[in-house]
Amino acid sequence: MKGIFEHQIKIKKLETFTTRYVSAVRLTMEDGSQGWGQMSTYYANITSKIFHQQVAPHVLGKEFNDFFDMGNLIMEREHKFPGSYVLRALAGLDTALWDWLGRKEELPVTKLIGGTVGKVPVYASSMKRDITPEDEANRLIKLRDDFGYRAFKFRVGAECGRGRDEWEGRSERIIVEVPKKLGSGIIKMVDGNSCYFSDQAIELGKKMTDNDITHFEEPCPYWLPDETKKVTDALKIDVTGGEQDCDMRIWKDMIDRKIVDIIQPDIMYMGGLTRSLEVAKMAELANITCTPHAANLSLVTVCTMHFLKGITNSGKFLEFSIEGEDYYPWQKDLFANDPFIVENGELSIENIPGWGVEFSNEWLDKAVYEYSEQGD
Ligand SMILES: [Mg+2]
Repeated sequence: MKGIFEHQIKIKKLETFTTRYVSAVRLTMEDGSQGWGQMSTYYANITSKIFHQQVAPHVLGKEFNDFFDMGNLIMEREHKFPGSYVLRALAGLDTALWDWLGRKEELPVTKLIGGTVGKVPVYASSMKRDITPEDEANRLIKLRDDFGYRAFKFRVGAECGRGRDEWEGRSERIIVEVPKKLGSGIIKMVDGNSCYFSDQAIELGKKMTDNDITHFEEPCPYWLPDETKKVTDALKIDVTGGEQDCDMRIWKDMIDRKIVDIIQPDIMYMGGLTRSLEVAKMAELANITCTPHAANLSLVTVCTMHFLKGITNSGKFLEFSIEGEDYYPWQKDLFANDPFIVENGELSIENIPGWGVEFSNEWLDKAVYEYSEQGD
């Protein structure tokens, strides 16, 4: 895995373009070369403040040639702040550096980490719970027919629902209705988003098995790994999780104790590609598959395409949100080119250096601009 490279060069300037939902990062090296990245979405206006106060000062004017060491150094300097926000901000720096290195070496990021360009099969990922089983089945069938998706994920329970359903009987119905309508030959997955107690999840999970569902994501509160493990041990289908987790101790425990069958790190919550590669490696050594989390069409899905193609223990499908403007109005027109064209159920990584995308000038013009510079 390439995390160390030959260029000896200092980071000169870090600029951010921020809305409440998303913050793009432009990195400039002392020779003028540049790269683009993104911090994790949501409350990005807060994350961007952290970026300029707790991330940028540790790297500006410093020589950089080791991704792993740089991330570790920042986390050591900020060891009193081991939580999500610093890592959400670090993701902006890390992803900008990978883009910079790709542009410098004229290679797509996936090739830098041992992957290949080309097709990436995706699964159509529904984010909605306020939709009836019938309406969900109908829209997924249409997507199957229009775009050739061969795998789908839909929602059960209520998000962090303390065992309650979105409305009574919805989950029991949707796990029958959607698989029946999608038909055989299609992979069906569900996401519980931390809803259930283990006994409930096991009962529902057995019915999923009977209905050709093969993946039960985050059945129990993710912060209760022993509950999740009971479900993993009881069910034949894959129990999956990890999208929220960003602490390496938690990952080590999750992998060592086989809390889940499939791990799902999110590049942006993790602090970037580098730390996600570390987690994927840890899982690979334990023969655990990695199907990363990527729940919106910002840079996270682009980065995850490259990540998925660059690891040997990847799941078959990239998560691909099917929600549009009604659900994610902020993701509209983020990029100048559209990296999200699905054909035959696949996206494509082109042979373009870096992440292969450009943020749109119109979007950047409307965002709040801040910068940190060497010597500030
Ligand atoms: Mg999920």
